[in-house]
Amino acid sequence: MLIFQDFSAGYGNRFVLNNIDVRVDENLFIGVIGRNGSGKSTLIKSLAGLIYFVKGEIFYRGISLLKRKSLNVVSYIPQEINVVFGFSVYEILRMSQRSYQKFFSRISNSERKRLDDVIDKFELKGILDRNIFSLSGGEKKRVMIARGVAQNSDIILLDEPLSGLDIDHQIKVFQILKEISLSGRMVVASVHDLSMAAQFCDKIMLLDNGRLIRYGTVEDVLTYSNVKNTFGVEVYVGVNEINQKRFLIPFK
Ligand code: ADP
Repeated sequence: MLIFQDFSAGYGNRFVLNNIDVRVDENLFIGVIGRNGSGKSTLIKSLAGLIYFVKGEIFYRGISLLKRKSLNVVSYIPQEINVVFGFSVYEILRMSQRSYQKFFSRISNSERKRLDDVIDKFELKGILDRNIFSLSGGEKKRVMIARGVAQNSDIILLDEPLSGLDIDHQIKVFQILKEISLSGRMVVASVHDLSMAAQFCDKIMLLDNGRLIRYGTVEDVLTYSNVKNTFGVEVYVGVNEINQKRFLIPFK
């Protein structure tokens, strides 16, 4: 269980995320939605331990995420990917493994299997030797998401994972994240595309002006009136008769 307890977070001395109180079950793919500036990134960064002006608590399995010592609980894939050194794709993936961080430690069989698995899932075989600087934005994004997944953390945090990906890879990446959540890891991602969130996420957090105004299933949260009240936009909410999932089309 992930528990936010009267949690606020911000920058300088100003809170931009206010009094979040929610209990989130594990094994879920959580979509965080809201307008620009509503606090999605701040919420994700708070879970990653990257925000220092905070109040209240976030507990994961009873342990404070804010005071945790072990960095292995979460992996965080930021929106902007800043790579400083020109490593190869394989090196970048390899660095996500624990053995790499210890001197003279060889890659273990389970680590190798994990790497092979993400290389396969994210279709990276053909670009493993490429310098990260030579990749397109979308390829780089896929590598960094794969790296986060390969980290074997309990919680995977992604800030706008779909940006820069073509529609084929958007579907593939969300499908992988869904499978990961079903296998017992928690996935929390900010998502702009409401129909993608509706199709793949188990639960939705709807933020408005730094407040969590709804948390629940797609059917509870992604409704005409919730979208109208928070985004100020009218949407047609339909159900795809092929997969029975909701879709939302903005209209004027
Ligand atoms: P979202 O991800 O929903 O677009 P953010 O969490 O990025 O929202 O931003 C929430 C609020 O915090 C906004 O008002 C934004 O201007 C402010 N903010 C974000 N990052 C910083 C920062 N580094 N310093 C000061 N204010 C920030």
